[in-house]
Parts: sequence; C-alpha cells; structure tokens
Amino acid sequence: MSNLLVNTRDQQFVLFEQLGMESLLEAEEFNGFTKDDLLMVLNEAEKIAVNVIAPTMAEGDKVGCTFEGGVVTVPKCFHEPYKKYTQGGWLCPAASAEVGGQGLPSCVAFAIVETTAAANYAFYMYSSLTLGAANLLDVFGTQKQKDKYMYKLFSGEWGGTMCLTEPGAGSDVGALKTTAKRRPDGTYLITGTKCFISSGDHDLTPNIIHAVLARIEGDPAGTKGISIFVVPKYRVNEDGSPGTANDVATGGIEHKMGIKGSATATLNFGENGECIGELLGKERQGMRIMFQMMNEARLNTGLQGLEMASACFERAVVYARERVQGNNILAGKDPDAKPVTIIHHPDIRRKLMWMKAHVEGLRAMCYYVACCMDKAKVAQNAQEKDKWNGYVELLIPVVKAYTTDKGFLICSMAMDVLGGYGYCSEYPIEQYLRDEKIATIYEGTNGIQAMDLLGRKLRQRDGDNTRALFSDIAGNAAAAKKVPELAASAAILEEAAGACFALADFMVEKTKEDAAMAYLSAAPFLELFGDVVIGNFLLDAARICIDKRDAIYQGKGAVTAEERLDVCRQDTEAAFYSGKVASAKFFAADVLTSVKARCEGIRLCDKSAMEIAQEAFTY
Ligand SMILES: Cc1cc2nc3c(=O)[nH]c(=O)nc-3n(C[C@H](O)[C@H](O)[C@H](O)COP(=O)(O)OP(=O)(O)OC[C@H]3O[C@@H](n4cnc5c(N)ncnc54)[C@H](O)[C@@H]3O)c2cc1C
Repeated sequence: MSNLLVNTRDQQFVLFEQLGMESLLEAEEFNGFTKDDLLMVLNEAEKIAVNVIAPTMAEGDKVGCTFEGGVVTVPKCFHEPYKKYTQGGWLCPAASAEVGGQGLPSCVAFAIVETTAAANYAFYMYSSLTLGAANLLDVFGTQKQKDKYMYKLFSGEWGGTMCLTEPGAGSDVGALKTTAKRRPDGTYLITGTKCFISSGDHDLTPNIIHAVLARIEGDPAGTKGISIFVVPKYRVNEDGSPGTANDVATGGIEHKMGIKGSATATLNFGENGECIGELLGKERQGMRIMFQMMNEARLNTGLQGLEMASACFERAVVYARERVQGNNILAGKDPDAKPVTIIHHPDIRRKLMWMKAHVEGLRAMCYYVACCMDKAKVAQNAQEKDKWNGYVELLIPVVKAYTTDKGFLICSMAMDVLGGYGYCSEYPIEQYLRDEKIATIYEGTNGIQAMDLLGRKLRQRDGDNTRALFSDIAGNAAAAKKVPELAASAAILEEAAGACFALADFMVEKTKEDAAMAYLSAAPFLELFGDVVIGNFLLDAARICIDKRDAIYQGKGAVTAEERLDVCRQDTEAAFYSGKVASAKFFAADVLTSVKARCEGIRLCDKSAMEIAQEAFTY
C-alpha cells in the first residue's frame, strides 16, 4: 500500500538491484553495515516521515511563520517533531560517528532525505541548511571553531544558514556589498544586509550560526575578493552556551507562494557596528569554500524536485484508482456501460505513465550521483577518485535543474489527474505544487545551472567526464539491444545519446565563437541532456527487471498476456518489475524519440530572441 510519499520498493531497487549498494558495503568505510541494517534505517525513516513529519505539512502551510517585535516564530506544530527528528539522528545520517552521525553511505542518506523531506519540505529545510553549515565547519573550520559551533550544528541543537544573497546580488554573487573589517584580535566586524535567507531567524533552536559571504575592506571586486565568515546570532560563552546578541537583526520575513513554514529572512548584520565574525578558511577563499555548501544545497534542491513529484505521483495513482467518472472508451456506445474509475481512461493512463517514468528516472539519477560520491570516498587511487568526483561535478547542474523543472511539471500533472479537487486545498497537491516551485529558482536559478553545464561542466577535465558518461550510456544501450523486448528502445536511446553528445561538442565550440547562440540554447540543451541521462537509467533498470519479471511469470506458468496481467494483479513483485520495464519503453517512445529533432533545432542557431529589439517583445 502506498505511504503517499515515496515508492520504497523503487528506492530499494535503485539502491540494491541497480546501483549495487552491497558491493559498496565491502569497503572499509561502510563495512560496519549490512543490507539489513540499511533496510531497517530506511524503514525507520519512513515511520518518522509518515507518523511525525507528514502531520505537520498542512498545518505548517496554513499557519506559516510570523515576525512580531523582531522575533520570528515557526509553526508551533514543528517544535516537537523537530526535536524527535534531530534527537533521532536524522539530521546527519551520512556524517561520521565522531561528529555524531551514523556514517551511512550518501546514497542511503539521499533515500532518507527523499522520504522525510517529501513529508514536509518547509520543515526539512531547517535541518538541511544546518547540516550544510556543519559540513563547512567540518572541512574548513579550525579545531576551536569546531568545538565552539560544529558539534551543536550536527546535533541539531543550533541552526545554521547560508548567507549569499543581497538585494543587489542574487545570481551575481560577486556583486555583494557586505563588508568585513579586520579587528586587532583576528576577528572581523561584519556589516551588510542579506536577503532571502532560509532559516535566517526562527525559534526552533536557541542559537543560529550563519555562514556569511563578505568582502574584506580593500579586497578586489568580484568573486575573487570574497571571504566567508562564521557569524553567530548569539556570541558563544566560554562554557559553550549562547551569550550576548551579536548585532544580527532580522529586518523581516518574506510572504511567499510556498514553503510557508520555512522562515525566509532579511538579516541586517552590524547595524550598530558590533557584529563579530570569524574567518572560515583563508581570506579571499570564500567562494571556493562556499561551493562545497552550494553543491550540497544544489543536490538537495534537486532532491526537492524528486520528493514533491514522488508524493504527488503516489497521490495521483491512489486517486485515479478510486475516482469514478465517465464510461470506458472501449465500451463504445453500449447503453448499459457503467462508469469506471478514471485510471481506465487512456489520457489518465498516459499522464500516470509519464509521471511514473520521470519519477523513477529522476530517482535513479539522484541516487546515482550520491553513489558516485560514495565511490569517490572509497576509491583506491586518485584516478578513480577523480573519475567519480568528475561525474558528480558534471551532473550537479543537471540534478538541480532537470529534476526541479520536471518535478514541477509532475506536480502540475498530478493536479490535472485530480481535476478540480486537485486545485483545492482539500488535497495536498496544490501545496506540493506551490512548495515545489521555489526549487527551480533558489540555489542558482535553473537558467544559471544550464549556463554552468554548458560553460564549465561539459569541458571539465578536458571533457573527460562528459565522454566517460556518454560512453557508459552507449555501453548500456548496447547491452539492452541484446534483449529482444528492449532492442527498439535501446536503439532509440543510442540515437538520442549520439545526437546529444555530438551537440555537446558543437555547443562547447559555439561558446567560444558565438556565445549568444550557445547560451540561448543552454536550457534546452540541459533538458536534452537530462532526458538522455534518465532514459539511460530507465533502460538499464528495465534490463535488470526483465529477467526477474520473467522468472516470476515462468514460476507461475503464466504465458499469455492475460495470464501475466493476472499474475501482476496478485504478485506485487511481478507488478513492480513489469512496471519498470513499461516505464523504460514508454520513456523511449514518448521522450527520447524527439531528442534528435530537438538537437537539430538547436543546430539551426536561430538567434531571433537576441536579435529583435527589446521593444519588439511587446508594445
Ligand atoms: C524562498 C527563498 C529562499 C532562499 N534561500 C536563500 C538562502 O538560504 N541563502 C541565500 O543566500 N539565498 C537564498 N535565496 C535567494 C536565491 O538563491 C535567489 O533568489 C536566486 O539566486 C536568484 O537571485 P535573484 O532573486 O536576485 O534573481 P536575479 O539574479 O535577479 O535573476 C532574475 C532572472 O534573471 C536570470 N539571470 C540573472 N543573471 C543572469 C545571467 N548572468 N545570465 C542569464 N540569466 C541571468 C535568472 O536566471 C533569473 O531568471 C532564497 C530565495 C528564496 C525566494
């Protein structure tokens, strides 16, 4: 039965049957875990998501955050669940035991996040930014900074933030105006305003530790001159308790379309000239250091795309199987035909199949990136480490942008499946749709991600990462071609991947000779890239599933199509495996067939959008 959040069977499939998690458990770093341990953890994550977090979602949206008398409060219903969540160790399952984590592989941590954040993303955000700040201190902090701040962040006792954005510096972080002035004791006076800061102020924790980008007086303009500082809301006493206020004032919170339970604050640092920050790492290394947090946040935002899409899809299936409306089109004009549940209607079937295929493909892609992170961690030599890290780097903008763009469309399509009821707050789809939208905007808009893929990531390591990824895809397509049932889909993938890879080369060249043309097509290119990547994972999954599905059919003596359908109605494993095969075939036919044509469209180098006068857009 669906938990209305995620398909836990598919999570397990991706982890163990597709990505081969068990072999990862042989590495020293993870050999303290067995498959059963991991399944137990995932099961517990499902319980806390369903029983503790999900009940806060609608209430958190209704109540939202408030700002009165300079104080920000989060929905009351968040407080107890947050304690349970952090005390249960859910904030940092992949962190090492030394800092209070469980040392789980990242791909399992991704699955945990998928489940728990799908239950209420606004709630989850408080912990995700806290973890990001904790991880920064873990890698770049001095021992003193770790003792002072880090452990309390990992435990969830205090909150954390990431402060980049300013009113005049959004996508262009280098334009920031916040300054840092050296003090004789080695600390810095911070002055400036940061806006849109998630979890910037709230009453969930007694202290909040901000990671703040600022420019030290006299340092160069642009990103090169940026440093990063640890700025607590309250200074920390000798005994580790929060002390006097650190001149960080909250100017207000935003009234937003979604994630209303997540406080998005404007923070004024040093209005009274008394905001003290500690340098993290070295001077002018701020962007490099912050990139660690931003990369984590980008992957997390990609996961947000998946989480809400998954929850909406699960709801849509349940609804479509219950809602009775209209006669079966196959009944023709039969006057005695009875109305059927809407899942009988071809158009609803197509929508569900589109959502199912995308959700599964996105899940596989997100977990794959986490798996690459794990493989980099256990790599035996630098070359191997570089390879896995290279895949992560290449796929980060794709995970962030493609998953959130498609995630939003999936939520929207789920609303269509529910019809008018989906548009109303009686069902949570409309909230998911609102909560999902921000994911295409923050952590670098999806437009900026597309530019990152084209301008930087495709050619990293001289293009080796891109070449290796497409070579893997070609290998998968060749393997799938040998399976008769998948041969046609594999040929479609092969052609699509070939066209996309050739276009990647073409586009990289264009960035040098005709930047306007190249960047006009950056977003459509990222979409093509994502289509090919998830099409590859779906086909790879189908190849694994076919044998398992057929073994069940064989064991039950099911030969005809009707007998096999009957088996699937009674045997959840047969249903699961046959559903995965269907996802791959559908995706190849519905999405991948258009890849080559879309590549050709981009190669036409149409520049109308750049060439017309601005006045010609409207008048
Ligand atoms: C709810 C919420 C939470 C947030 N949380 C945080 C947080 O915790 N910490 C934080 O620091 N920030 C946070 N942000 C800020 C967020 O990251 C920015 O809003 C985002 O980076 C975009 O900046 P902007 O809003 O100034 O838009 P702009 O940068 O003005 O962009 C407007 C449009 O122009 C495009 N654009 C801009 N520059 C270029 C370019 N050079 N080339 C092509 N297109 C371009 C963008 O893609 C976008 O479509 C949050 C924002 C919101 C709404």
